[in-house]
Amino acid sequence: MKNKSIYIAVNAGSSSLKFKLYTMPEETLVCSGMADRIGQSMGEFSLKYADQKYQLETPIPNHEVGVELLLKALLDTKVIPSYDVIAGVGHRVVQGGKYFSGSVLFTPEVVEKIESLIPLAPLHNRPNLQGYFAFHKVLPSIPHVAVFDTAFHQTMAPQDYLYPIPYQWSTQFDLRRYGFHGTSHQYLVQELAKHSNLSPQKVITCHIGSGASLAAIKDQKVVATSMGLTPLGGIMMGTRTGDIDPSILHFAALKLNETYENVYAMLNKQSGLLGVSGMTSDSRDLEEAHLAGNERAQLANQLFVRRIADFIGQYHIRLHSANALIFSAGIGENSGFYRQLILDEVKDALGIDFDRELNMKTRGKTTKISTPSSQVEVWVIPTNEEIMIIRDTYRLGKGA
Ligand code: ADP
Repeated sequence: MKNKSIYIAVNAGSSSLKFKLYTMPEETLVCSGMADRIGQSMGEFSLKYADQKYQLETPIPNHEVGVELLLKALLDTKVIPSYDVIAGVGHRVVQGGKYFSGSVLFTPEVVEKIESLIPLAPLHNRPNLQGYFAFHKVLPSIPHVAVFDTAFHQTMAPQDYLYPIPYQWSTQFDLRRYGFHGTSHQYLVQELAKHSNLSPQKVITCHIGSGASLAAIKDQKVVATSMGLTPLGGIMMGTRTGDIDPSILHFAALKLNETYENVYAMLNKQSGLLGVSGMTSDSRDLEEAHLAGNERAQLANQLFVRRIADFIGQYHIRLHSANALIFSAGIGENSGFYRQLILDEVKDALGIDFDRELNMKTRGKTTKISTPSSQVEVWVIPTNEEIMIIRDTYRLGKGA
């Protein structure tokens, strides 16, 4: 292993720190893992490398301890010979606000800006920064790069990112649509370009996991995306509502005699597939229940599919006819059942023809599931947000 050839992609959440190590420029995955249950009485650390798994149960009081565990485990397992091989660390930062339209090297000014955005994304930006501080403390002399979920969506026009609220709210408080999962949407259109030379490329990307968003992307530039000011907006999700009439917040607070904060939390955590089905947010269980005839599961799935189909219709118009549709993330990559339900809703309007058998058996592998006569190409492409973080860290780190 050469010196300065390893790059780390970090996704720090409030109680977890996920990581993947790659060698560059080969883009070879070296290992992946996570420090979980940070701040709880007992934490869990795991590292997967080659075909082995290293696991440890130990208290992880904070992110710094999580990072120390990771670095020690890398040496103990001989995944790396010394810290000298680590060339850079890329950190996922969820909210980049209006400031960042691309990845940047961390500087005190960048930290200050990310801190100033904490009110817009308290559950994300704070832990994202904690992850950075923890890594920077132990690896201060290598480049650290911030990669934003919002950056790729910064090409939207005002009529696509502004809300019809008093204009001052937008200008003074920056209340506008930002969009998320940007690294995933960008990865998907770049991958599509490797497999299909559509010109112009007019794509609707469907990142459908427990968090889910769609984007309309023309020639690698985002025209519109479904998530909004926060990841609560857009299509229905595992536990989140997606777009709803905002007065529901007001009436639910009155009826339940709850504070807005509590109702807001319920819209985030107790709604979506979970809320409608009353059973689970997990699509695998809902697929099974649906097929077994459970009516609430069927209703939840019908609502879910309807909302995705509505956005696809909207984005088809926004793009003046899309020529590709991509499914990705947990549900989009793996579930032929959900893809078929969605495609059956939109196929006639979009002139889509797809291979039903191929769709049903496609899982986690880049595959074109439309037939040659389809007017819109339909692709399943597994996303890889970490490799986008690694590529930007490599690119920006080289110049640092
Ligand atoms: P997030 O990153 O937002 O947590 P994921 O992209 O991991 O979400 O997606 C989670 C969702 O994907 C869950 O609803 C889960 O049921 C579904 N999912 C994950 N793996 C599979 C699979 N192999 N088959 C079907 N559904 C899957």
